[in-house]
Amino acid sequence: MDLTFDRRHIWHPYTSTLTPLTCYPVVSANGVQIQLENGKQLVDGMSSWWSAIHGYNHPALNAAAHGQIDKMSHVMFGGITHEPAIELCKKLLNFAPSNLEHVFLADSGSVAVEVSLKMALQYWHAKGEQRSKFLTLRDGYHGDTFAAMSVTDPNNSMHSLYKGFLPEHIFADSPKTGFWQDWDESDLESVKDKLSRHHKEIAAVILEPIIQGAGGMRIYHPNFLKGVRELCDSYGVLLILDEIATGFGRTGKMFACEHAGIQPDILCVGKALTGGYMTLSATLATKNVADTVCGGEAGCFMHGPTFMGNPLACAVAEASMTLLENGEWKEQTHQIETAFAELLPKLKQHALVSDVRWLGAIGVVEATKSVNMEVIQAHFVEQGVWIRPFGKLIYMMPPYISSMANIEQLVAAIESALNNPDCFQ
Ligand code: PMP
Repeated sequence: MDLTFDRRHIWHPYTSTLTPLTCYPVVSANGVQIQLENGKQLVDGMSSWWSAIHGYNHPALNAAAHGQIDKMSHVMFGGITHEPAIELCKKLLNFAPSNLEHVFLADSGSVAVEVSLKMALQYWHAKGEQRSKFLTLRDGYHGDTFAAMSVTDPNNSMHSLYKGFLPEHIFADSPKTGFWQDWDESDLESVKDKLSRHHKEIAAVILEPIIQGAGGMRIYHPNFLKGVRELCDSYGVLLILDEIATGFGRTGKMFACEHAGIQPDILCVGKALTGGYMTLSATLATKNVADTVCGGEAGCFMHGPTFMGNPLACAVAEASMTLLENGEWKEQTHQIETAFAELLPKLKQHALVSDVRWLGAIGVVEATKSVNMEVIQAHFVEQGVWIRPFGKLIYMMPPYISSMANIEQLVAAIESALNNPDCFQ
């Protein structure tokens, strides 16, 4: 592989062109194994950023892709429909909270978030109210496009870099009570305060249910989510849940909002929607939201991307939904959660560890120091695992098909990194 060309000319995520970090050449992936060009096999701990839930090179997903590509890879969605989109949306609505009835298919997670924000704005416009603010949480993350970034934690997404262009929204304190801790009602004070003061200008609250992912891997108490739903209802504000990372079983429930027994007005999904095969996302809305949006001045929802409802992506996503329908994911994520619950507390004793936490198929080790990315990455590869930390967070969200031996290997690799001071700054 021409790695010199890669280093000189190809931008990787959040990476400098001046001092690019090492990139490991991958030639194939199968099940939970990622194969490097030099023949080394790595046990995957990331599911390619939450997406490859069934593992790589899955026969059912491959068959769906092959079957569809021989019929048509793509056809426009304006004025045209097709079986893969219809069958996918049927399954999606079956899994989703029961109040959601309309599906808007989009390109990526960030675009699904943009779509949800636009829906909320059009909803209030149609009702004759000028509401242009969103209430969201500190430590949240909703994507890298502008509107998504504007509701992402100001420090994490460097709002200061885009000042003057980025719309300014309202940020409440993120919840402090962990998922497994005793609930502390005061967690809701900040949201309550912002809503009571600004509800007339707020179109919607947008947040990640139960786990704030890229903004800190913070796993919080379901009562917080329940409380936010009640506050949205009492102040007449829409609730958008971003389940792009948490959706499709990752937290041990099909959708994380089920931990709190609540339903959103608008739901964003992406990442694992295609089992990690290609990019596709969806924004789901209630009948009330959809009817109000389309009953307004515009007469429709003003969005329609070129690759909307891409048949190839829909066919693979439908096959992924079929795999989820057999329900095996429940036992698998439960087993992974049990393994994390047994293995992670042992790491808590380590001097370099400030906290460990887990939920479903998510395990997090928070270090007291930031990692040295170049060194720790090489260390993990040496240990035969693929784990990609950021800052002080070393976290795992392995494919659901991971064996207990795979999970043990991932945790052992983290322990060995903790014992190597060069892996930290
Ligand atoms: N929302 C959440 C909660 C996410 O974790 C992400 C991706 N990390 C996004 C939105 C953006 O998705 P994408 O990268 O597909 O645009």
